[in-house]
Amino acid sequence: MRYLLLLVNLVAALWVFYDSQKHGYSIGKGLLWAIGVFFLLIVFLPLYLIFRRRKEKLAAQERETRQIISPLSSCFYCGQGYEGDPKVCPHCGQTLKMG
Ligand SMILES: [Zn+2]
Repeated sequence: MRYLLLLVNLVAALWVFYDSQKHGYSIGKGLLWAIGVFFLLIVFLPLYLIFRRRKEKLAAQERETRQIISPLSSCFYCGQGYEGDPKVCPHCGQTLKMG
């Protein structure tokens, strides 16, 4: 029975590590989560899922705001699209704004 629990924890820890790498966590962070899950599965597995969800939400929000703040504009000189509000065109180097 004890070995079975150990196996479950090990599998869960491995899954958390693998999953954290898929979601862009660093190896160190993924390892920390995996170790936490291995020793305290009941505490760390729900925590990991909550944090992961929050991270995903933040990333999605960031993507959205970036799209709102910086729609793609096109250069007056070369006609290429650029993002954000640069002073010079990233493609042809022409000054886009006066002053
Ligand atoms: Zn240009």
